[in-house]
Amino acid sequence: MKEYIIYKCKICGCEFILPKQYVKANEDKGNYISCPYRGHKNITVVGAYDSIKECMDHRTYVREGRRIRQIK
Ligand SMILES: [Zn+2]
Repeated sequence: MKEYIIYKCKICGCEFILPKQYVKANEDKGNYISCPYRGHKNITVVGAYDSIKECMDHRTYVREGRRIRQIK
């Protein structure tokens, strides 16, 4: 079971990570995940990991959910 999902914005190219439960909670409310930097909706899933640590091992650039949450 993967707990964290990595997204990439197709417009500005940034990558960001969200906890799966956060994504699911938003989808249940009918909200779409968007780019945390510019609010782009054109994003794609590029990976999924079991833990934040595993993400950091694979990615040089990671943001955690607390800051991303401010976009809504
Ligand atoms: Zn973007």
